[in-house]
Amino acid sequence: MAEAAAGGKSGKVVIKNIGLLLSGDLDRPILDADTLVVQDGLIVAVGREKDCDTEHAQTVIDARKTCVAPGLIDSHVHPVFGDWTPRQNQLGWIDSTMNGGVTTMISAGEVHLPGRPKDIVGLKALAITAQRAFDNFRPGGVKVLAGAPVIEKGMTEQDFKDLADAGVKLLGEVGLGSVKAGYEAKDMVAWARKHGILSTIHTGGPSIPGSGLIDKDVVLEADADVIGHINGGHTALPWKHVCELCEKSSRAIELVHNGNEKIAIQAARAAMELKCPHRVILGTDGPAGSGVQPLGMLRMIALLSSLADIPAELVFCFATGNTARLRGLNCGLIEVGRAADFVFMDRAQHTAGASLLESVQLGDIPGIGMVMIDGIVRCGRSRNTPPATEIPVVL
Ligand SMILES: [Zn+2]
Repeated sequence: MAEAAAGGKSGKVVIKNIGLLLSGDLDRPILDADTLVVQDGLIVAVGREKDCDTEHAQTVIDARKTCVAPGLIDSHVHPVFGDWTPRQNQLGWIDSTMNGGVTTMISAGEVHLPGRPKDIVGLKALAITAQRAFDNFRPGGVKVLAGAPVIEKGMTEQDFKDLADAGVKLLGEVGLGSVKAGYEAKDMVAWARKHGILSTIHTGGPSIPGSGLIDKDVVLEADADVIGHINGGHTALPWKHVCELCEKSSRAIELVHNGNEKIAIQAARAAMELKCPHRVILGTDGPAGSGVQPLGMLRMIALLSSLADIPAELVFCFATGNTARLRGLNCGLIEVGRAADFVFMDRAQHTAGASLLESVQLGDIPGIGMVMIDGIVRCGRSRNTPPATEIPVVL
């Protein structure tokens, strides 16, 4: 099931007969194209079959008129090591999530590690180790961007420079460690940013016994790049405060499965009304107290499309292109030069929706027929989604 990152190259891959091509780009969510050409893991052509060079392909896939979208990016997970989570003591959760269409996951901190070190040398060592370990080992082929230290009191700018020099690119959720005051967090977030490290802040009530509240004033003062789970993880701030964060901050608005669903719907609508939908990104916050959520990203997409009344093709962008752009990732968009990370979907069997997009807008999750990462097929018909009506075939 799990495999090392240093896998074989995909060679030339042609995907033809695509019925619906979602781009991941909010400004142009549906592409007028039916063919994708991939060379060694990267997209080299997007267009009509007659206009693409489809000769001498190593792999040809007939999409059978199903939908192809960029692989989903879970903006907020808590991995530890390998494909194991101690939070609910489960194995294989990342591979299972790949069967839910996720091809990239972003660590918001390896906080569940039993005995997690909280001294500064220890937390730096853990971050570097986690970054290396997941870079060397991809469960189910999923790109797990990990090594996200939880900042503690006493850290200096030099510590952030050391982390950056060692290849650490993320901070774990600010607020999960001893740094909980806005003025303290603000300096460290700024040091991280100066050294090219992207930050996320916990928003809302405590997650589990032992963690604490991070209110809207702390979030605004800290000014992290991502307003982590603005809908709480689990407990949300009052709607008035969430609204204030959407209005006063220009940072990413992250909505997670493991949060308050009503506030997620309200925040997504607010972002649409404030004309800043490009700020909205999605995650699960899994594994968590509420468990592992292999279909969590698809459930968020269906939730927001159906109950916040946002066209499904736009909500898919929240889970793909928006995250890629805000986090500087080479995936999440169907564009020449981007990673060939795709999810093939069709309407689930017996949904009331006449098309894939309509079924999602009705609140049903799609059926996945194939997942590809770096141009390599990682699974066929998903073992977790409801069965797709039609699935692609490798010719
Ligand atoms: Zn959190």
